[in-house]
Amino acid sequence: MAYVKFWGVRGSIPTPGPSTSRYGGNTPCVELNLGDDNFFILDAGSGIRELGQHLLKQGKPVKSHIFISHMHWDHIQGIPFFVPAYIPGNKFVFHGAQEADLSLEDILADQMNPINFPVQITEMSSKFEFEPMYEGEYKFEGIKVEAMYLNHPGYALGYKFHINNKTVVYISDNEPYPVHPEATQDTDNPDQILFVEDSNQRLINFVKDVDVLIHDAQYTPEEYKSKVQWGHSPYDYTVKIALGAKVKTLVLFHHDPVHDDAFVDKIIEAAKKISWQAGSNMQILGAQEGMQISLD
Ligand SMILES: [Zn+2]
Repeated sequence: MAYVKFWGVRGSIPTPGPSTSRYGGNTPCVELNLGDDNFFILDAGSGIRELGQHLLKQGKPVKSHIFISHMHWDHIQGIPFFVPAYIPGNKFVFHGAQEADLSLEDILADQMNPINFPVQITEMSSKFEFEPMYEGEYKFEGIKVEAMYLNHPGYALGYKFHINNKTVVYISDNEPYPVHPEATQDTDNPDQILFVEDSNQRLINFVKDVDVLIHDAQYTPEEYKSKVQWGHSPYDYTVKIALGAKVKTLVLFHHDPVHDDAFVDKIIEAAKKISWQAGSNMQILGAQEGMQISLD
């Protein structure tokens, strides 16, 4: 049985408390279960702590690949509290984009430097491997994985996984790409017209016909006006990309820390309205801790 399960859905910072208890307050962590005890982990926000507790209860050796979307705190802060990583015999392969002059390993080790945390990453007793990724196509454990650079400060990747005959795309943090003029002039050669590819169309192509698209929908269109270049999407953009790509199920993800459960409900309703008005029957869900979507 293959499925997607959400362990953390909140953006930016954990938000515990009664007003966020229904959708959940943990930062991003998604389990992509491939069946037969094989699974990938997408991001290592605070939600990975609970995934770790779940794995401990199963009492089996753990081997997994952890795909980090990017190195901002909310996507890596759970690693020091991920107990299976302290158990000898377990093995984790970290994948993700590295910054220009820092390796994946250095970045992950740095959040556990002795000033910030009492245990260093080298003291975690499971086996760690680090494999940087770039935009392109890969294969891990027989699963085809495609990666695409996103529009988010620093180097952030979106991932597409091909599982059996289903496709899942995980794009945790992304905002609309600036729209280039359809054509622009080459300043060295004014007679030459250069056509600039619209990266929003590139994104639509990347998520074309996917079964499950998990995508940033942190803001309302109103909120986005004052948050351009913060790296997050207004929900209307996310719905339009999904509609353009004929996605089957869209999961709105990376909820804003100031949005309580009632506000997230309203965002989901507004997103559904855009889809209905476009005549689509796409399923739209709000990411919720504990939610599971079958891939069978
Ligand atoms: Zn984030």
